[in-house]
Amino acid sequence: MTERPSDRDLVRLAREGKDLTRAEIVRLLSLPDSDAEAFLYPAADAVRSEAVGDAVHLRGIIEFSNCCERDCLYCGLRRSNARLNRYRMPAEEILAAAGRIRDAGIGTVVLQSGEDSFYSREEICTLVSRIREESGLVVTLSIGEKTPQDYRAYREAGADRYLLKHETSSATLYRLMRPDSAPGGRLSCLRELGRQGYEVGTGNIIGLPGQTPEILADDLLLMKSLDADMLGIGPFLPHPDTPLAVSPPGQMAATLKTLALARLMTRTANIPATTALATLAPDGRPRALRAGANVVMPDFTPMAYRRRYEIYPGRNLSADPMDFLKRLHDEIVKLGRTVGTGPGSRKK
Ligand code: SAH
Ligand code: SF4
Repeated sequence: MTERPSDRDLVRLAREGKDLTRAEIVRLLSLPDSDAEAFLYPAADAVRSEAVGDAVHLRGIIEFSNCCERDCLYCGLRRSNARLNRYRMPAEEILAAAGRIRDAGIGTVVLQSGEDSFYSREEICTLVSRIREESGLVVTLSIGEKTPQDYRAYREAGADRYLLKHETSSATLYRLMRPDSAPGGRLSCLRELGRQGYEVGTGNIIGLPGQTPEILADDLLLMKSLDADMLGIGPFLPHPDTPLAVSPPGQMAATLKTLALARLMTRTANIPATTALATLAPDGRPRALRAGANVVMPDFTPMAYRRRYEIYPGRNLSADPMDFLKRLHDEIVKLGRTVGTGPGSRKK
């Protein structure tokens, strides 16, 4: 019998391209934090540097509606949250925000909202094509589960990317957390988006109640098998007006370990240092950038709306986008990295 490699050797093998098994992923997710700091994050950082370079790509996000027809237990936008003051941004304000993203030198806009059927297919298409024409930005949509015909129409209107997190690979946990969403629905959407030639983003939430390391390992294997171009890996943050109000938040170390493993396993995926992680702890963003992340998504939603886009509480709402960008540039330079230029598509 061959001897089992040490944790450090296992990470070295993964860094050199070995495919990790489910049991090995579980083992590395359970590393003591000091070992993760000593050799897991540095390995992920090295793969990040080799595979996608030192540029940190920026995506400007506009949260254009907080209306949602779903009832996900973890999310402050869920339809049962009667305390939320709902909004839909007028098209002209969305276009103006897109213009500010372009003027800031950022090449991509992410349009995100709750699942809101108020917007017809045609309205989304008009919005996408006007943004393309007026600002030239690469358009990413993050508006939930739609039909293949919808996705086709958005694509023809000029949308190139789509973000739809699978949230959790466990069918049991998915049913509990998203009682009104069919398990497998997001996966068929993700496959359809891939077939239609979108750059596809998926991801999970770390620290949902009932989540186990085995479920996280399956999340990582799913991300790899989907060959997703973008991976959003962020901690659960409890919202007071949801059924999960008193559940503890996801942990920094669990999030960083999952992110680092995602980098080792996929090599070239674009992986953001999520806003949720930056909300969990002030040093969340730089720590993620040193554990495999290569993307940041500055918020360009006008302040009057932004404070009402309360998926989870506690986001830093004081930052004007331009002040935030200045501080972000300094932070990136301090890490020895550069600010990405151009659309920052996935390098395969
Ligand atoms: N309605 C769309 C987009 C908005 S929600 C959708 O569901 O895809 C965007 C993401 O916010 C979700 O994918 C989910 O992963 C995340 N999210 C929601 N509530 C959260 C919470 N309480 N803590 C952390 N992330 C949360
Ligand atoms: Fe709606 Fe998305 Fe929140 Fe679920 S996660 S309630 S679909 S906004």
